[in-house]
Amino acid sequence: MYVINIRKYSIILLCILCCGVIAAIIGGVVNASTSPNAKYTIVIDAGHGGIDFGSEGYAGSKESELNLSYAITLKRYCEDYGFKVVLTRKDANGLYDALASNKKKDDMKKRKQIIEKVNPDIVISIHMNSFAESYTRGAQVFYNNQSDNSKALADCIQKQFTKNLVKARKSSQAGDYYIVNCTRFPSVICECGFISNREEENLLNTEDYKNQVCYSILCGVISYFA
Ligand SMILES: [Zn+2]
Repeated sequence: MYVINIRKYSIILLCILCCGVIAAIIGGVVNASTSPNAKYTIVIDAGHGGIDFGSEGYAGSKESELNLSYAITLKRYCEDYGFKVVLTRKDANGLYDALASNKKKDDMKKRKQIIEKVNPDIVISIHMNSFAESYTRGAQVFYNNQSDNSKALADCIQKQFTKNLVKARKSSQAGDYYIVNCTRFPSVICECGFISNREEENLLNTEDYKNQVCYSILCGVISYFA
């Protein structure tokens, strides 16, 4: 009788364990949608596009293409972590109307409209920096000086840049840019590196560096929300 009971309880225990494993597997699959981060929405803005390709590197890299590539990778990272993500620009085209007389202005206006419609928790605009003096390099985050939350977000991301990326700048910087000023949402520009520095242009084109940058931004975002 005692032996039978042990068998019976062993079978029950085994069933409980199996159910636990199955629940864990299912939990892993649906993790993104049930994650506590699912309540946060992020707009990721790939700078430039269409006729405006931004800066160009020595090796011919176009900023608009790098920005989009980084934005798409960052979107995947953030979604894997449970965040809701909306891209302003999903392909090589700019957002301006083909008939607009001032395409740059129209493009920026469209980005603002998307952000306002999404009503996000934060906005991250992806760019590659450029400077006349080619030795200048290092990833840096810019923010609107009037917004404490934007500065906090910028500092969280910059901290990760400094920790994880070669030659990243030591601190974030206030900047007067349309995309960080145009809405009330905490907004930053991540300048992922200098396309005008030969070595950094090469780095920016590698998958490894792109992954490090996107991982750093994700870590910064997580610590900001924490
Ligand atoms: Zn740019």
